[in-house]
Amino acid sequence: MRAVLLDAEPRRLRVVGDWPEPEPRTGEVLVQVRGVGICGSDLALFTDQRQPPEFPWLVGHETFGEVIATGAGVDRHRTGQRVVIEPNIPCLACGACRSGRTSRCPRRRSLGFTEPGTLAERIAVPARFTWALPDSWADTDAVCAEPLIVARAAIRRVAGTRVFDDSTLVVGTGSQGALLCVALAGHGITPAVLEPHPGRRELAVRLGARPVLPNETGFALTFETSGTGPGLREAVSRTAAGGLVVLIGQSGQPVPLDTRTVVQRQLTLAGSLIYDHPEDFAAAVGSGKPGAGRVLAACYPMEEAEAAFRAARDVPGKTWIRVGSGG
Ligand SMILES: [Zn+2]
Ligand SMILES: [Zn+2]
Repeated sequence: MRAVLLDAEPRRLRVVGDWPEPEPRTGEVLVQVRGVGICGSDLALFTDQRQPPEFPWLVGHETFGEVIATGAGVDRHRTGQRVVIEPNIPCLACGACRSGRTSRCPRRRSLGFTEPGTLAERIAVPARFTWALPDSWADTDAVCAEPLIVARAAIRRVAGTRVFDDSTLVVGTGSQGALLCVALAGHGITPAVLEPHPGRRELAVRLGARPVLPNETGFALTFETSGTGPGLREAVSRTAAGGLVVLIGQSGQPVPLDTRTVVQRQLTLAGSLIYDHPEDFAAAVGSGKPGAGRVLAACYPMEEAEAAFRAARDVPGKTWIRVGSGG
């Protein structure tokens, strides 16, 4: 079967036709992949800023498809379900997992990063990490489900500690920031957005946000999605005394931080990583109209995966790859 592989040479992806056909083992389902979204983490592998465990490497993690077979111990009625895949697989046995904070699991496996990814015609995955979608989710929503749930989890974690309202700023509206705008709009909130790229800013406004005013400050809550030094500096300087800055973007690069602003304003800086199993996927697929597909900007067939990866960073909105149906 066909699969998209990353080689040791950066910025090259190869479509092969002889990748081994997966077999669903006990507790697994076989999924016919229909679409895979591309995000910053995939691009970090593509551009050599992040290393896979081995080469060639099967990329991809934001995935939807259809269950076409079940392994032992799995309800056979799952065949035919349209599903999204939860690509972070915690151990479910450690202290973090038992307390429901599976995102902190030290033995967490991540499809596309620590385990082979999903950009292939078929993949075998644990059944409990595949989620059936209601018909109200279009395929375009389905391909955005995983990063939407990252955004929803960040909001859920804040909602446990704060009352939040329109005094919310989103720094950076790449695909993660855009999906955060979708998720905030779903809570009836109109966030301000700070984004230098005009196309990305316009996308955020179409999704229900408004551009921040040039010197506007005093936000009670700020989400930083760029992972960059300038982004963090803006996030900190525009947040009100006693406010919360939630960091979602990550770059691995050291950033200058004005400690005086943080201390004098008594800001709280908090990281929010992915989502927790099973609550965040369960809540999201149970919600009626996600609207996440509106962040999609470009779609490529599998054969053009390399072109898709090359173009993805410059496109305002999200790029995805359609798998199958001649694509
Ligand atoms: Zn992603
Ligand atoms: Zn664990």
